[in-house]
Amino acid sequence: MSETRNCQNCHSEFQIEPEDFKFYEKMQVPPPTFCPECRFQRRLMFRNERALYKDTCDLCKKDMISVFSPDKPFKVYCSPCWWSDNWDPLEAGQNYDPCRNFFEQIKEVMLKAPFMNLITGYSSLVNSDYVNHAGELKNSYLVYNADFCENVYYFEMGTYNKDALDSTMITRVELAYGNINLFKCFKIFFSEDLIDSHDIYFSKNLSGCFDCFGCINLRNKKYHIFNEPYSKEEYESKLKEFRLGSYASIQELKKKVYKFWESVPQKFMHERHNVDVSGDYIYESKNAQNMYQARYVENGKFCQLITTSPAKDCYDYTEWGGGAQRVLDVITTGLQTDNIKFSSGVWDSCMNVEYGIYNVSSSNTFGCINLRKKQYCILNKQYIEEEYSKLRERIIEGMEKNPYTDSKGRVFKYGEFLPYDLSLYDYNESTASWYFPLPKEKVLENGWRWRAPAHSEYKPTMKSEDMPDSINDVKDDIVNEVFECIDCKGPWRVIAPELGYLRRFGFPLPRKCPNCRYKERLFRMNPPKLWNRACAKCGKAIKTSYAPERPEIIYCAECYQIEFI
Ligand SMILES: [Zn+2]
Ligand SMILES: [Zn+2]
Ligand SMILES: [Zn+2]
Ligand SMILES: [Zn+2]
Repeated sequence: MSETRNCQNCHSEFQIEPEDFKFYEKMQVPPPTFCPECRFQRRLMFRNERALYKDTCDLCKKDMISVFSPDKPFKVYCSPCWWSDNWDPLEAGQNYDPCRNFFEQIKEVMLKAPFMNLITGYSSLVNSDYVNHAGELKNSYLVYNADFCENVYYFEMGTYNKDALDSTMITRVELAYGNINLFKCFKIFFSEDLIDSHDIYFSKNLSGCFDCFGCINLRNKKYHIFNEPYSKEEYESKLKEFRLGSYASIQELKKKVYKFWESVPQKFMHERHNVDVSGDYIYESKNAQNMYQARYVENGKFCQLITTSPAKDCYDYTEWGGGAQRVLDVITTGLQTDNIKFSSGVWDSCMNVEYGIYNVSSSNTFGCINLRKKQYCILNKQYIEEEYSKLRERIIEGMEKNPYTDSKGRVFKYGEFLPYDLSLYDYNESTASWYFPLPKEKVLENGWRWRAPAHSEYKPTMKSEDMPDSINDVKDDIVNEVFECIDCKGPWRVIAPELGYLRRFGFPLPRKCPNCRYKERLFRMNPPKLWNRACAKCGKAIKTSYAPERPEIIYCAECYQIEFI
């Protein structure tokens, strides 16, 4: 029997299905009290991808880039120090006090155990200092949530890419600029949702195509412009007429192309090679429901941003993959982790971890912070196996009798993710602010923290509007200017590799700062939310991330298949 519950956070109703109860039983936890959307938001509040600060290491005192603003109360070590043997996470250990709330005691350990400055596979980074939630990168800059890439700049979400700029969610791609959602592609510009294609401009949803411009929904085509066929010679001469080196011309083209795409029916979800899935941006997955941006997931529900293969038996799991299994309400876990619950940042062969924040290569831990290579630990104190099991049971009982209640009356017992009060980040520096943007008043109303935007030490020397329109008129010394972003008015610079690529591709310089460019890409993507809508052709009910008021014509899978494939 499915049951209807009321979300503790947003007070709306949500369903718990029979298969959900089964999963909770298997994981030996009570069912959740927050709705799926509030659970996703709550996890994202424990992650800061993009707000980076200058600070000094609390151990070696050297300068470093950090996800923690210097005013935060935590001890923070630079990567070489954090990954060294010059400190011991057990020094922050303390005894469990049964008379006090357990989450309050986790908070105390958080103030003692040193955090890593950036969440990276530090030893696998080559000439890539300004990256976060990343590993195995070479010559990369401002890259978030990516692995195995080389020469990528202003990039997020993806693996195995080379020579890519200003792109989101691309995998196995080489030479790319201004794209969203590509797989196995080469030389792609200003495009979305492409597979196995090359030499493509301003196109959407192509597979097996090359030399196409402004197209949508094509399979195995070449030399097409706005879905019309041309000869090779005609195509090449037409391409020159588009004046791709001019900023004004690119802006006009974008408007024209987006209008054209809207006039053509689109499939209700982005997906490929799946068996029994729902959500959006799902690839090569099986029995995976309510997913958002997921590859290679088997038996999962309510998961997001899973990029590396495989992930199995997981609910409420945000970010990573890489052999994770039996995961419940966790953000950032991967590389052969097993049975991980209610945690943030658990990786590299971790097993049986609950209420952990940054646990690496550890197993059987409960309420531990910044732990490395340890076993049977509670509040960073080590026990023998038997004692550990007994104490764990006692704490779970204690959490039931003496739950944590936050300033808005939300109650946290065992089975609930960490309360926001324990988050390391203010709401508007956390990843939640990208997927669930809220104004200051709403954030404070919810009992969450807000930080005033920092004043940059850089003063703009030039307005973005005053840049040359054509890439051909840009001088080398443009990299010395500080520009004012046309959107947020914040300062930003053009970096030398960026200038090099844009000259090589023949595209104009952008006018927005990297964050506003990311915002623009995120806005083009469908959101992590499903609506009920009817297929525009057959009228069948569909669940889609295209909100009903959106202008696109949306087809169900069958109608789309008949018309376009
Ligand atoms: Zn809710
Ligand atoms: Zn250091
Ligand atoms: Zn901006
Ligand atoms: Zn239909």
